[in-house]
Amino acid sequence: GGGPPKAEAPEAAAAAAASDERCALALGAQAERWLQFQKRQRVSCEEAAKLLLDTFEYQALVKHTGGCHCGAVRFEVWASGDLHVFDCNCSICVKKQNRHFIVPASRFKLLKGADNLATYTFNTHCAQHTFCKTCGVQSFYTPRSNPDGYGIAPHCLDEGTVSSVTVEVIDGKQWEEAVKAHPSIHSMSKP
Ligand SMILES: [Zn+2]
Repeated sequence: GGGPPKAEAPEAAAAAAASDERCALALGAQAERWLQFQKRQRVSCEEAAKLLLDTFEYQALVKHTGGCHCGAVRFEVWASGDLHVFDCNCSICVKKQNRHFIVPASRFKLLKGADNLATYTFNTHCAQHTFCKTCGVQSFYTPRSNPDGYGIAPHCLDEGTVSSVTVEVIDGKQWEEAVKAHPSIHSMSKP
């Protein structure tokens, strides 16, 4: 034997490509484009279909990605590039400087780290203060004001998708009055 290893035979390359093939949709001339799309987005066939569906359904929204500090917790979230952020002064938000924007649950996807989350609750136990067990960062949580959605920490998003941030101070010390009187906070978690 000896000599350098031979380049893969065309048949082997084709077989490798076939095994790498991520989707069996019969798209004819668009098949290669579909595969390239999945590769570029690094998503499975199902995820690619959902991405396109989301893009169509959630026009004017962008896909933000983010997570905790150590990387154990990662998520993606569809929201406007112009974020409306609440700065709350309730007993816990003030201690953890919990600024957040609210999205419907359907626009949030936890990519990894479900088993690395710890949850802190208190008082009414409605809010689920989820944080990474490893680094302690709360990159998202379930707010008491919007149990059907998520509060996302804008400072935990990856760079490049946020166009602007508008901060609204909400008087969490008078939580019932402030949330009840708010004109739009409840609608922010509706799909
Ligand atoms: Zn972490």
